[in-house]
Amino acid sequence: MTPLSNIDLAPYTSFRIHAVAEYFTKATTIDELLEAVAWARTQGLPMHILGGGSNVLLTKTVKGLVIHIRLMERVASIEGTRVTVRIGAGETWHNIVSWMVDRGWGGLENLALIPGTVGAAPMQNIGAYGVEQASCFVELDAIDVATGESRTFTKDECAFGYRESVFKRELRDRYVITAVTYRLSTDPVIHAGYRDVSDELSLRGIVQPTVGDIYACVIAIRQRKLPDPRLIGNAGSFFKNPVVSASVASALRDQYPLLPLYQQPDGSSKLAAAWLIDQCGWKGAREGDAGVHAHQALVLVNHGSADGAQIIDLATRIQQSVHDRFGVDLEREVNVW
Ligand code: FAD
Ligand code: NAP
Repeated sequence: MTPLSNIDLAPYTSFRIHAVAEYFTKATTIDELLEAVAWARTQGLPMHILGGGSNVLLTKTVKGLVIHIRLMERVASIEGTRVTVRIGAGETWHNIVSWMVDRGWGGLENLALIPGTVGAAPMQNIGAYGVEQASCFVELDAIDVATGESRTFTKDECAFGYRESVFKRELRDRYVITAVTYRLSTDPVIHAGYRDVSDELSLRGIVQPTVGDIYACVIAIRQRKLPDPRLIGNAGSFFKNPVVSASVASALRDQYPLLPLYQQPDGSSKLAAAWLIDQCGWKGAREGDAGVHAHQALVLVNHGSADGAQIIDLATRIQQSVHDRFGVDLEREVNVW
């Protein structure tokens, strides 16, 4: 294998920030992936796994080998109302959701239009409009970068949480996910509880939504509210919604009656980070080409030629002002390279 050298990663990431990868290769088969992993190991170089680049912020030259995952596979089996699908890690997430919805297979329709690849979906347990990929997850296959051996992870072993998994924590950079298996249904539970979704359904006069209705509504909402990375660089939510204890939540609610709070099954509360940021006056702010999206304060944007340091600087100042005003710490969701 001969990797390319000094490749600009801007076209491979949704923030469109220029930074060079020392070495770069694509893996379209498991053999190519194993070869790339072995090459980096024998050279003593670090490895970085890149999917669609929609959750990565580049801040400097990326030392070592970037492996762009392009593993394509779609296998489905149907038993009664249960549909089991095994999907290659390089498949585009939204294309797969569309493929499922076209066939009437429900479960992941609330996650339509999330950018990126299937292999990255378990990484932060992607979620939107009240559904996480974990709800349909069965297992995934991965390759250990230290040994090249393959391993199957069960749902429990992935330790999924709110925008979390074992791959984002303890096993970060230790495994390359190669395929994910999901269980769908031809008779699924419909999730229409989020306000934007129920409003959109009402607007369309839909009382008993189908999988296709939810899919169409979610796409319409997202197209209205979120910046299209093809038009303006961004990586979606830059911060996670903070989860605080019941006592902190109640003290905040006493002080800020309009603060959106969502109680969690364990009694803690999730706060809407976008509201906190907005209250600090950041929505629509711009400093040079680094900015905060005008319709969604959780999304930081690159208006053109911002670099990673400028985005980090803006993010740090947002974190500081939210901390000073509300005593709440915002944690980054984006992966900083
Ligand atoms: P990348 O950005 O390429 O990688 C992200 C991380 O995963 C990196 O650390 C990378 O090393 C690792 N990784 C990637 N592929 C693999 C693999 N095969 N094996 C091991 N590690 C891997 N996220 C949500 O949860 N919900 C949303 O609603 C949502 N909306 C978004 C909207 C916009 C406009 C944008 C730009 C982003 C949004 N995101 C959302 C974030 C992002 O789309 C998801 O996190 C997505 O899963 C990232 O996929 P990717 O292939 O682009 O990953
Ligand atoms: P929104 O509907 O304006 O809601 C603001 C926040 O409040 C969301 O982050 C959401 O948390 C929470 N929320 C709203 N209704 C809720 C309910 N009924 N129960 C529990 N929590 C509720 O959010 P938005 O910005 O337009 O995004 C819509 C959905 O897409 C959200 O689920 C969001 O997570 C997802 N999204 C994610 C990214 C990303 O990069 N991670 C980017 C864009 C959109 P949750 O985030 O926990 O759902």
